Amino acid sequence: MHDLAITGGMVHDGLGSPRRRANVAIEGDRVVAVGDDVGRARRTIEADERFVAPGFVDAHSHSDALPLMGQPQPFELLQGVTTEVVGNCGFSVAPLDDTSAAYVAEAWGDLLPGVAVAPGSFADYLDHASTTPDRRTTSGHSSTTGRFVSPPTARGVSSRRVRWE
Ligand SMILES: [Zn+2]
Repeated sequence: MHDLAITGGMVHDGLGSPRRRANVAIEGDRVVAVGDDVGRARRTIEADERFVAPGFVDAHSHSDALPLMGQPQPFELLQGVTTEVVGNCGFSVAPLDDTSAAYVAEAWGDLLPGVAVAPGSFADYLDHASTTPDRRTTSGHSSTTGRFVSPPTARGVSSRRVRWE
């Protein structure tokens, strides 16, 4: 008996195959069967009129600070994103020295409710970051080199730079 069956959905297998109506059986964290008859399961989700697909990879999410929020932030999972890549466009919330942390808190603080931006190493960040969804984290070059360029703000576009001492 499987752990979970998702029945009646329109399955997109993520391999380029045409979509098809099928049932999906899951054991633990693995899909073990896809087809018309996948056997019995302890729990069933009826997915009629819905799509069933592997989790999406968001390769450019800017969600670097979300894993530092005190409460779980399930909205990525609710949108089907199971893996995301952060830090890849140059900005990350680690590593930060005192000056860079102050800059990030000022420039991005309104977008980071409940996150206390603090100086720290990349290892510190990873130690405190939640792991849901699966996250591939890189250290942004701005953070690594200490060269931040201000984002556009309500006060206008700024070209201010902060350099590490
Ligand atoms: Zn970006």
